[in-house]
Amino acid sequence: MTGLFSKCHTCRQPVSLEDRICGRCGAQLHVLCPSCGQETFIQSNCRYCRSSLYVVCPDKNCKKTQLISPGGRCRFCGAQTTDIKPD
Ligand SMILES: [Zn+2]
Ligand SMILES: [Zn+2]
Ligand SMILES: [Zn+2]
Repeated sequence: MTGLFSKCHTCRQPVSLEDRICGRCGAQLHVLCPSCGQETFIQSNCRYCRSSLYVVCPDKNCKKTQLISPGGRCRFCGAQTTDIKPD
């Protein structure tokens, strides 16, 4: 534990930046940054390069701006929003 805390991107539970999984809802808390490729906590900006982790859904019927999700899929319609491949 480093004492750095943030919030779960799904349920807003306070979690440590080092936690892999939210203890409350089970969501994955890290994602590969599309800009620098480092694994960063899911929050507004990458921990390392500070670029925005918000993406816009490419689906023409959705187009919602949202925080990047661990699977690289739209939180609303499920369309692929990034090139990130789940491993
Ligand atoms: Zn959660
Ligand atoms: Zn980055
Ligand atoms: Zn969508």
